[in-house]
Amino acid sequence: MATKIFKLESIGTVSVSKRRSSRQITLSLSPQGNVRVSIPYWAPYQAGLNFAQSKATWIKNKQPLELLFLQNQKISSGHQLNFVQSSDLLKPSRRFQGDQIIVAYPDKLCIDHPAVQQKAHQAVIKALRSQAEDILPSRIDSLSRQFNLPYSELKIKQLSRRWGSCDKDHKIVLNLFLTQLPDELLDYVICHELAHTKQLNHGPQFWELLNQISPNAQQLKREIKKYNPRIIMLEG
Ligand SMILES: [Zn+2]
Repeated sequence: MATKIFKLESIGTVSVSKRRSSRQITLSLSPQGNVRVSIPYWAPYQAGLNFAQSKATWIKNKQPLELLFLQNQKISSGHQLNFVQSSDLLKPSRRFQGDQIIVAYPDKLCIDHPAVQQKAHQAVIKALRSQAEDILPSRIDSLSRQFNLPYSELKIKQLSRRWGSCDKDHKIVLNLFLTQLPDELLDYVICHELAHTKQLNHGPQFWELLNQISPNAQQLKREIKKYNPRIIMLEG
């Protein structure tokens, strides 16, 4: 496989790979939102770039938005961001103090500097992860018992596209961003994955089971499309 990396104004980094196994041009996004295009071995790289350009609108809608963390920003874990300038620092640092996430940064930087924002991002992910680890294991346990749908293992991961998954061995993965959702959507995702312990695919029997354990499943399925698995910052 041969790969070339391009930078396009409209959609950012695009990697175009020539694959002997490719018969047509396909496009996907990395978790960071970078565009990956596979083209047949005989096609010119430009063909991959043209294809990416033709999908620019779709790509824009799928790429994660740039987040800017602001002073006093509230996070759904209950924390609030507090940026403080500190003359004796060489690089940004973060710490938790009560319900505050304190991001300290050197005099020469400002809040919107990528290194400062990255520290804030790391701290927020840590806060959301620990909130998820507090809430999700007991919630899945109680729903699993209530509906007699045992699972073998729970992992909490940071995923960018899906809220959860369940494999054939009944190992369930839940997204650490889940606890930011309204409770009924959180329960919907857990019930959805638990239903997969009986029905791996999304066929009629799957939906029949899910409707039994999660009333309004169809409506919640539409509702959750309004959210993306990412940091959701609270207003005010
Ligand atoms: Zn599913």
